[in-house]
Amino acid sequence: MEFKELPPVKEQLMKCVRCGKCRSVCPVFAEIGNETVAPRGHVFMVQMLRDGTVAPEQKVYDHLTNCLMCETCSINCPSGIDIHELNAAARSYIYEHNPSLAKDLIFDTMWTNPAYLKNAVRMAWGAQASGAQSLGRKLGLTKLLPGDLPKAEKILTGIPFRSARKQVPAVSPARGEKKYTVGYFLGCATDLLNPEVAKATIDVLTRNGCEVIIPADMKCCGLPHIANGKMKTAQQLAIENLKAFRQYDLDYIVTDCASCSSALAAKNMALLLGETEHRDEARAFAAKVMDLTYFLIHILDVRPPANAQAPKVRVTYHDPCHLANAQGITDEPRELLRRIPGVELVEMTDANRCCGGSGTFSITHYDLSMQILDKKMDNIEAADADLIATCCPSCMMQLRHGVSRRGLQNDLVHPVQLLSQAYQMSKGSEMKAAL
Ligand code: SF4
Ligand code: SF4
Repeated sequence: MEFKELPPVKEQLMKCVRCGKCRSVCPVFAEIGNETVAPRGHVFMVQMLRDGTVAPEQKVYDHLTNCLMCETCSINCPSGIDIHELNAAARSYIYEHNPSLAKDLIFDTMWTNPAYLKNAVRMAWGAQASGAQSLGRKLGLTKLLPGDLPKAEKILTGIPFRSARKQVPAVSPARGEKKYTVGYFLGCATDLLNPEVAKATIDVLTRNGCEVIIPADMKCCGLPHIANGKMKTAQQLAIENLKAFRQYDLDYIVTDCASCSSALAAKNMALLLGETEHRDEARAFAAKVMDLTYFLIHILDVRPPANAQAPKVRVTYHDPCHLANAQGITDEPRELLRRIPGVELVEMTDANRCCGGSGTFSITHYDLSMQILDKKMDNIEAADADLIATCCPSCMMQLRHGVSRRGLQNDLVHPVQLLSQAYQMSKGSEMKAAL
């Protein structure tokens, strides 16, 4: 569909009353203080693009990418404008006029093919394990990498050797009486960077009567593509995911990744496929999608065993933007933590303020991302917790980097890991088993 005809562009631009509310809550504007990077400035820019008063040039794209896609502006806009959707549509429109071979290779070839993506991560693991990464750093070879990558490659440390898919079966039967058949949307980052989260997810779901199926042909959720001007590829990925899940008779589709659940939810599926022949199937698919924490509280009502011999631990929780802003899920992860024996939940200030990670943003805008991260880390340090919990692998990666930059010792966990651990502790298993 033509840019001007896209529903957000056609229907939403005229609703802006120039009030500036979006500007007052934007974490990027708070750092840069320039109207061109403010959400209201983005709305103007999209309007000018639509009217042809600015051309779809790379410099316009660069302005628009000074944005975390955190949706804070959208949920605070009194006119109900989905500012981040306008921004995504504009990025895609501009990208089509300014294609890049490197970007096509990354997002169309590698990131649409799980095997290629896995090999890329394996290569990164090999570089770390053999010391090549630090040698490359010392020799200045990493400076040859594009954009902010030379600085940002420090974020990608601690890559596990084996992906989750290598460690868990495609079908895990329910333990005890079966209640539900659940499709597990195992996102790329959980699979390749946080396999322990995937193992804990399957452990908790199967203990609570779920048969868990991971479709073999599942693809990336497409959110990195939307953020990088690749809306058409994201559409294609969504269609392929419909196909991958269609062959199973599932009661629910759950994911432990906030970005994946927001990408697969009704609103985003409507953005991608709402005007296509796949609209009805996308709607039915999205109706089954649930973030793991929501599913554990509202559908399974999980109650970890009260006799778990878990040690006391202070946990502070960071709200991922894609869970809190995109889906309004803030109570469920906290409720889950409160139900775990031994866990004391300590709130940090501004828990729902973006950590600055936002998927690829920390790689493309490293310095700005670190400025935003520093504010988050101040609040984390002040909470004086043992562990930092969050529900998004991108936030986990960013916060781990924040912990390391400050020389702190806090581990990063998904609440489901503590839950799985509580189940295991009730049987006298080793404390570290689920972490
Ligand atoms: S908050 Fe909404 S209406 Fe107000 S300036 Fe921003 S986009 Fe326009
Ligand atoms: S999505 Fe977040 S970073 Fe982007 S303009 Fe809105 S508030 Fe600012």
